Amino acid sequence: MILLKSTAEIDAMDQANRLVHRALVHVRDSAAPGVTTWDLDQKAEALIRSEGGMPAFKGYRGFPGTLCISINDVIVHGIPSRSVRLRDGDLVSVDCGVVMDGFYGDAAISFGVGRVSEEACRLMETTQQCLEDAVSEVRPSNRLGDVGAAVQRRAESAGYGVVRDFVGHGIGRSLHEDPQVPNYGVAGRGQVMKPGLVIAIEPMITAGSWRVKIDDDGWTARTEDGRIAAHFEFSVAVTENGARVLGVEE
Ligand code: MG
Ligand code: MG
Repeated sequence: MILLKSTAEIDAMDQANRLVHRALVHVRDSAAPGVTTWDLDQKAEALIRSEGGMPAFKGYRGFPGTLCISINDVIVHGIPSRSVRLRDGDLVSVDCGVVMDGFYGDAAISFGVGRVSEEACRLMETTQQCLEDAVSEVRPSNRLGDVGAAVQRRAESAGYGVVRDFVGHGIGRSLHEDPQVPNYGVAGRGQVMKPGLVIAIEPMITAGSWRVKIDDDGWTARTEDGRIAAHFEFSVAVTENGARVLGVEE
């Protein structure tokens, strides 16, 4: 069941997403060789709580962190750890969720630590472009297939893989709502987007195969072939005028 949101509800979700993006920027600015992923998680949690939000991921199906921090071949759902230190050249993907005033925000960014390879830069740039292409398809009467096809077209024409095992999602008073928002699909197919629909669009793009394996911790999702992956995510509202990317200054 798809729950459409009023403008007031979308404004509340914008506030939650503002806090998500502030946390992400804070984490990116704090990242450096030698810093542990635990340190980054603590900084994000402190910022979120000091601004009146709550970490949305912490305790979600038992996830222990405020952030998912996924390094190099880890695609998503990396668990912050005192024993994982960032290293020069790492490609880091950070996913953050916040709940504030009853509404969820959810966004992710990837960035490099120190000097990163040209391959990693190109993958991150293309993944960000995938997200922008997807957002440009968000408007009333377009379909979710248009969103997925836009991601897939950009990624595959660059020679990259599109992860199938995880998808974007509706978001609102719950972190994950209907509909599912795949990063692949056929333009002109799938659910029609209506004003008031809010979706988290989150391309997960791999340098090689899109196939995934999960570590024994039950969370950490890696590329099966060990090649790098990147992840960007926005929460996006469908309005009469097109896409409204939540939490981002216009
Ligand atoms: Mg997320
Ligand atoms: Mg999400």
